[in-house]
Amino acid sequence: MSHASKAAEFNKDEAKVNWHDKALWYVREKRDKSAHNVQGWEYLRQLGSSIKANVLSNLDEYLVQFENNAKKNGVQVHWASNAEEHNNIINSILDKHHAKKVVKSKSMLTEECHLNPFLESKGIEVVDTDLGERIVQLAEEPPSHIVLPAIHKTKEDVDELFQEHLGTKPSGGNPEYLVAEARKHLRDKFLKADAAITGVNFAVADTGGVVVCTNEGNADMGVHLSKVHIACMGIEKIIPKEKHLGVFLRLLARSATGQPITTYSSHFNKASEGKEMHIVIVDNGRTEQLSREDFRASLHCIRCGACMNTCPIYRRSGGHSYDYTIPGPIGSILSPGKDLKKHSSLPFASTLCGSCSNVCPVKINIHEQLYKWRQVIVKEEKQPVIKKTILKTAGVVLSKPGLYNMAGKSARFMLKYAPKAMIYNKLNAWGKARDLPEVKNDNFDDWYKKRKKNG
Ligand code: SF4
Repeated sequence: MSHASKAAEFNKDEAKVNWHDKALWYVREKRDKSAHNVQGWEYLRQLGSSIKANVLSNLDEYLVQFENNAKKNGVQVHWASNAEEHNNIINSILDKHHAKKVVKSKSMLTEECHLNPFLESKGIEVVDTDLGERIVQLAEEPPSHIVLPAIHKTKEDVDELFQEHLGTKPSGGNPEYLVAEARKHLRDKFLKADAAITGVNFAVADTGGVVVCTNEGNADMGVHLSKVHIACMGIEKIIPKEKHLGVFLRLLARSATGQPITTYSSHFNKASEGKEMHIVIVDNGRTEQLSREDFRASLHCIRCGACMNTCPIYRRSGGHSYDYTIPGPIGSILSPGKDLKKHSSLPFASTLCGSCSNVCPVKINIHEQLYKWRQVIVKEEKQPVIKKTILKTAGVVLSKPGLYNMAGKSARFMLKYAPKAMIYNKLNAWGKARDLPEVKNDNFDDWYKKRKKNG
């Protein structure tokens, strides 16, 4: 299904669309206030972008430096060229330790690699410990946002879900009660876990350590209570030096939720005594994206979610309408590189207003890349005949002023006098939910000439 068809499903529940829109806009406003409180915010963004550009140009060197330093710390480093290798590596580590119960903190990479179903098929229980992630896991749904995975669910939905899976009492969606019950449920899982899997926000080349940011402390809890820690990272998570964390940690939390700092920014450099730490470094299509000159800057992304919160399309179509691990504007420039045919509708799910690029903390030119993908897609993918015909006709009309004026006059006449059924038809997507504006007799040109004549 295309993005438009999935969005149409989401749009059936108007009340839900409205609160989804409002909830994300609230986060966007918090981000604005928080960013405006930092002197030199634009300078920080530029710095973040430049550091990432440097990383991408020297990725081979930084990755090897990171590996060497991590090994010096006693960490076991593994390389995976794709999702399958990533999953097999993790399974073999768990197998070696006879681990049957795993706790996992939020990691979009493991979502991308479909790690949970893979491990479950091997008889391993995987429990997502981020509250939002646990909610969508219980609902058997993918996350709909990279920072707020259950943003599409109301507290009443969560109440019902917990009653069904955790045996809680009906609370009318009382958040305090639900959080306390989730805490009890997860505490038990933490205590019984054989291994902990975490994502990685930043991998520091000059120390070989990784940094994981959470608001719930669930990554720390998992790692400290288990014998084995497996950290999974994409190759683009590298930053050259520890001092660069000062730039990225300030950008990340403010852009994601408007907080000055994430509640826990946990540094994992080596395993505690008697324990093991593994890092799995994953490519899974990233070097291919790096080789696409027009799209390589998409690898700057620090997964803050700000582009989703600001996007008028995302806010009113929901994350699941994108049908890709990373939804929203950034997902729409990452996904066509993975499967052009499957995701060819995503770069069109944008008004190209540029708001995503304006809020992006690492200055990715998101809307320009969306436009670039459109150009690639119309050349490489079959387009609907109606769309092709309309665009061809528009191209001819817009390039000939005489024809344009004539078309304008006829359109104004039609809009004024033609029967409503002729105007509000299938081709008029705008008119599905609203009336067209009142038609004036003159166009801009006529109005301008008249105005000039009258002085
Ligand atoms: S593209 Fe930019 S705004 Fe969007 S998630 Fe990535 S870093 Fe954040």
